[in-house]
Amino acid sequence: MSIFNATSHTIKQAAQCLRGGGLVAFPTETVYGLGADARNSEALKRIFIAKNRPQDHPLIVHLASFEQFDAWACDIPDSAVMLAQHFFPAPLAIILKKRPDINIVVTGGQDTVALRVPNHPVALDLLRAFGDGIAAPSANRFCRISPTQATHVLQELGDSVDMILDGGACQIGVESTIIDLSGDHPMLLRYGQIMRSELEKVLNLNVLIPDALLKSTVRTAGMMATHYAPSTPAMLCENTAIPHFIETNTQMKMGLLSCGDAFSSYAHCTVISLPANPIIYAQNLYAKLRELDALDLDVILVQTPPQTEDWEAINDRLAKATHHFREH
Ligand code: AMP
Ligand code: MG
Repeated sequence: MSIFNATSHTIKQAAQCLRGGGLVAFPTETVYGLGADARNSEALKRIFIAKNRPQDHPLIVHLASFEQFDAWACDIPDSAVMLAQHFFPAPLAIILKKRPDINIVVTGGQDTVALRVPNHPVALDLLRAFGDGIAAPSANRFCRISPTQATHVLQELGDSVDMILDGGACQIGVESTIIDLSGDHPMLLRYGQIMRSELEKVLNLNVLIPDALLKSTVRTAGMMATHYAPSTPAMLCENTAIPHFIETNTQMKMGLLSCGDAFSSYAHCTVISLPANPIIYAQNLYAKLRELDALDLDVILVQTPPQTEDWEAINDRLAKATHHFREH
């Protein structure tokens, strides 16, 4: 398996590979996706196998434009049109009622389908060259850290991908916001860079948050799924508690991902600093967690970021990445 620089030539090759039932990893503005022809059940099954993802976990279908939504969804509400006009192409996936002819492999057996138009030139060129929907979950093994660079995809999936298109590091760095418009009321299913308050402003409606999502951000062990996780145990820590933790655990090899604050260095603790800016922090978060994960540490400390809405997607991912540690 090798990595190809994304050019008009390799993008055409990638579209051809998808038509033949192949798997192509490609960059989007959020994270790298593992793409397959969203109408080809055999190709879709290969995604689940490569990721080791349960078959009832639905995939997001990527499209080149909102005009193509009609070929995938029915009863598209005005709210979807309003969001598409305001945001697309964007890190926003919309759940709609699926058309009866849409394959249930891609929807994980559900009668709804998740659709998104990514805001990345390589992704859009590939979608135009392919001409139809590309199902593309993040190109990592199930529950692990999403890839934000082409080399991460190679480390995660190796030979199970036919082609990796390299379009550089992803600009956003955390997965898309997901809004469900298939029911009576808009529901937020995943936090992302597009915030709930922005969606509410465009829709002029409240966007509800299901209990399951609320629980995933509270720090209660056992209530949330582990996801986006490094293999090293990771732990959130308030800035005031960090020096004491480091100084009283000198027998442990540890790493610290700081957020805005400067910490002194210690022989047994590698410090990686990120600024207290949610855009830059999100861009770098997964790559830095990978760097720390590769150091064979006993624990990764993550300085708790601010708790404001612009940090919500980051806090959600960190809560999941550190879930395991808090359980034990
Ligand atoms: P990933 O593709 O890895 O970014 O994850 C896709 C996310 O979209 C998962 O959390 C899915 O549960 C969610 N998703 C995709 N399709 C649907 C759907 N039809 N209904 C609800 N959630 C969905
Ligand atoms: Mg994922």
